[in-house]
Amino acid sequence: MRIDVDWDACEGHGLCEESAPAVFTVDDDGDLTYHFDGVDIPAEHEEAARSAIGVCPVIALRLVP
Ligand code: SF4
Repeated sequence: MRIDVDWDACEGHGLCEESAPAVFTVDDDGDLTYHFDGVDIPAEHEEAARSAIGVCPVIALRLVP
């Protein structure tokens, strides 16, 4: 499972981090780090990552088919 991040759309709300802190972190400046950019998300983090997709208020996270 992979996720595409729309970096231009991301506004640094940090809700993804709340849902999946092992997958996403947002620093104090609102800059997002996606820890599995371009690689498969480990199976143990998939459920949390799916939740993060659902909570992003600007739809910056999309599941790669
Ligand atoms: S929830 Fe969406 S807008 Fe907020 S930091 Fe995560 S990807 Fe960016």
